[in-house]
Amino acid sequence: MASIRQLHQQLISKERSAVEIAQEALNRIQQLEPKVHSFLCTTSEQALEQARQVDAKIAAGEEIGLLAGIPIGIKDNLCTKGIATTCASHILENFVPPYESTVTQKLKDAEAVMVGKTNLDEFAMGSSTESSAYQVTCNPWDLSRVPGGSSGGSAAAVAARECPVALGSDTGGSIRQPASFCGVIGMKPTYGLVSRYGLVAFASSLDQIGPIATNVEDAAILLGAIAGHDPSDATSLKVDIPDYTKLLQPELKPKSIKIGVIKETFGEGIDPVVVEKVRQAIEQLQNLGAEVQEISCPRFRYGLPTYYIIAPSEASANLARYDGVRYGKRVADADNILSMYTKTRAAGFGAEVKRRIMLGTYALSAGYYDAYYLKAQKVRTLIKQDFENAFEKVDVLVSPTAPTTAFKAGEKTQDPLSMYLGDLMTIPVNLAGLPGINVPCGYDDQGLPIGMQLIGNVLREDQLFQVAYAYEQSTPWHLSKPPL
Ligand code: GLN
Repeated sequence: MASIRQLHQQLISKERSAVEIAQEALNRIQQLEPKVHSFLCTTSEQALEQARQVDAKIAAGEEIGLLAGIPIGIKDNLCTKGIATTCASHILENFVPPYESTVTQKLKDAEAVMVGKTNLDEFAMGSSTESSAYQVTCNPWDLSRVPGGSSGGSAAAVAARECPVALGSDTGGSIRQPASFCGVIGMKPTYGLVSRYGLVAFASSLDQIGPIATNVEDAAILLGAIAGHDPSDATSLKVDIPDYTKLLQPELKPKSIKIGVIKETFGEGIDPVVVEKVRQAIEQLQNLGAEVQEISCPRFRYGLPTYYIIAPSEASANLARYDGVRYGKRVADADNILSMYTKTRAAGFGAEVKRRIMLGTYALSAGYYDAYYLKAQKVRTLIKQDFENAFEKVDVLVSPTAPTTAFKAGEKTQDPLSMYLGDLMTIPVNLAGLPGINVPCGYDDQGLPIGMQLIGNVLREDQLFQVAYAYEQSTPWHLSKPPL
């Protein structure tokens, strides 16, 4: 699939119709899904109808926006009116939302064409998309490996060119880590930049929705379309949204950008080949005109334990609403209300979700609240301070996105701790509410993609896109595709 701008050009020059473009995506999905399994459902009829409307506009000589007629995949934890939204959980298997999330409404208004809902770890809890209750998504670069998670369906769909762009959500790395494993761009915006209205809540103080794309410009276009204040989300920021694409230049102005390399993220536990490729990428940034220095974020390493108190605590509260009364599944064989609750939840939630609910309920219970939850919130502030100190010296921070390349399916499912360790470098960014982007920066010796993470100061998505774009344009990584 071509880029958004190329597809837009094809549409306005009448070289191809929006229906032809939608059909190409739907055909590719049909052809590849038996191998990749990135979609939980496709929405062909609605997609073709939306595409016909775009074609009618073009035929009538009306102007269309950049996203009009562009196929897009939507992570299945975003509510879509009249279309099942399962969160890859049995507890929501029959749930058809009566309302539309703000981001998907914005995409509808921009006349983007949703082709389907993508797979995820159940309720976005996981790093491999293996905890989906419905199917395991495969990494398009090596089908025996995981695509990462939890937005693994979206990342795999984009990497496999089933659709040019997709939306994911990121609570502790769920956009950036799968983007890294699948060799695509994935951005988690500043907390509050994108409305969470209609995003099924996992950990509300950390969740953000963001774009996944094959190139930086497409991600910038998509973020521009979904960002902005929304009165329906109390944490939504009232800020002007710049045209992120305007700043994209193939070179950085000499000495205009200071980059800090987070010292602590190149040590123990990080695969040597990942370290090597990210270091080479940093050299390239230097060649492009960036000033590079080493930065220490000493409390970065407390991110993981802090997150695994805060996120499950918020999750245990958010998931209390799935009680068999208001949403989705309800077991038939309960003889009183309490047994209906417990049997429904026992049958509806998978093992990982239950583990998080138990962890969170424990951390929030009387006597443990101060020892765990409150302590974690304090450490969260310290981690944020590390970033604030760093951003007094530099504009953008760099680290690897994940400690390894994509691992084999099944390799970590029996060992949750080793799965959690993979989020080491993405989690602190969510705890501090900052924007972060994954940019592909090479391959390991088995041909699996490696990603570099760029972290920006609050609301400096523009700088991240600028650095990512200059790097991308000066390297060949975005030109290669998985061998499918
Ligand atoms: N992998 C992390 C977790 O399991 C992050 C998930 C996410 O960002 N949604 O919680």
